[in-house]
Amino acid sequence: MALSDVLGRVEADAEKALETLKEYCRFPTISAHKRAQPETAAFVRRLLAENGFEAREYPTEGGPNVVFGQMIVDERKPTLMMYQHYDVQPVDPLNEWKHDPFDPTIQDGKFWGRGCGDTKGNLIMQLLAVQAWRAVEGRPPINLKFVVEGEEEVGSPHFASFVHANKEILKADGATIEGGDHLHEGTPKIELGCKGILYVEMVSRTASVDQHSSYAAIAPNPAWRLMHALMTLRDAKGRIKIPGWYEDARRPTARELRFLKSSVFSSQALKGFWGVKEFIGGDNDFELLKHLIYSPTCTICGFVSGYIEQGTKTVNPAVAKAKIDFRLVPNMKQEKQLAKLREHLKAKGFGDIELLPAAEKLESAAISLSARVVKAAIKGSVDAYSREPEVWPWSIGASAHGFFNEVVGVPSISGPGVSYDGSNFHAPNENIRLTDFVGGTKHMAAMFAHL
Ligand SMILES: [Zn+2]
Repeated sequence: MALSDVLGRVEADAEKALETLKEYCRFPTISAHKRAQPETAAFVRRLLAENGFEAREYPTEGGPNVVFGQMIVDERKPTLMMYQHYDVQPVDPLNEWKHDPFDPTIQDGKFWGRGCGDTKGNLIMQLLAVQAWRAVEGRPPINLKFVVEGEEEVGSPHFASFVHANKEILKADGATIEGGDHLHEGTPKIELGCKGILYVEMVSRTASVDQHSSYAAIAPNPAWRLMHALMTLRDAKGRIKIPGWYEDARRPTARELRFLKSSVFSSQALKGFWGVKEFIGGDNDFELLKHLIYSPTCTICGFVSGYIEQGTKTVNPAVAKAKIDFRLVPNMKQEKQLAKLREHLKAKGFGDIELLPAAEKLESAAISLSARVVKAAIKGSVDAYSREPEVWPWSIGASAHGFFNEVVGVPSISGPGVSYDGSNFHAPNENIRLTDFVGGTKHMAAMFAHL
């Protein structure tokens, strides 16, 4: 009975919450430019306090403050942790925006503004869910915690040390990371973890200076050398040839596949967006989705060497560089895979190629379908949308899950959330649909009741 009143309350108060979201989105919190971080952190702390949370800011060594808030209603009840970030991506190219990115606007059933989907809208949605419970029942049915950092969009360089130093306060029975998407037709989606990423620069240097290319008959060429090394990493079908690469990779379970079978994933739509004729692995949508989620990848993100400007320049370059990203599925860890890559190159005679791993620390992580936080999110979806959500075993991108379900030991999922597949994250015209904002809030409020 109470839950339907709470969901009704969400509907009634959504407009007011969207006004708060406008205020929040007016802060130009671009972490890449270190903009507006202190005032945004203070705004988030105040918002939490106004909504009944004990809230404070934690300084980080050399980074912006992390905001932490908690509402303990009853020590015997379960606790849900919600992770968010208050920073956003840069807004260039500015001339492609239909509205000022930092002067949010509601138009055509959508809320437009930088950060509304990624991820300021999710914090406001979660607070609206809390408000609705407080209005109807005096308090939410479970204990709640928030942790909101200010550097996610630049790879969370100071968040790991915060987590390691504050494991105790981050303890909970389940966590949600940022928010979740909706598919185009409105089905909500949750993900039970994320892939990790190993990003390395590979450098081949065969001389200290460039040479006239007439010496190429006897002088080594670093571009050829690097290409030969790269050819040993992957075959034409995308299969990675480094020995033992797949050893730790988690395999699909029958239950996971049952959820994926009912997915409305469409490869045709993606082909249309990108102008791609054919995907690797055929054209059966289920097989492609399985491949997309369960396959580790090895991608040449960029390759440079020698002369590529106008006209000709006959040069034998001294150096060639490639940037490679390896997406790792759960159970594959950066350090171990990096050691396998090193070993492989040495064994193939490419020990001279320098490997420079990036500082990215986002590891793969995923939990099982039977975790209570997953069950709560699925039941909440039935209350809010009258249907089960689309459930992916993990997201294909990297995210903060590892900090929670591996460092602190809190099972985490992505979702419920306010965005959809047309939200334009990191791009011009970021937007969310108002129906997804209301739906996501109801989903969250109902999930509280099921944890
Ligand atoms: Zn982002």
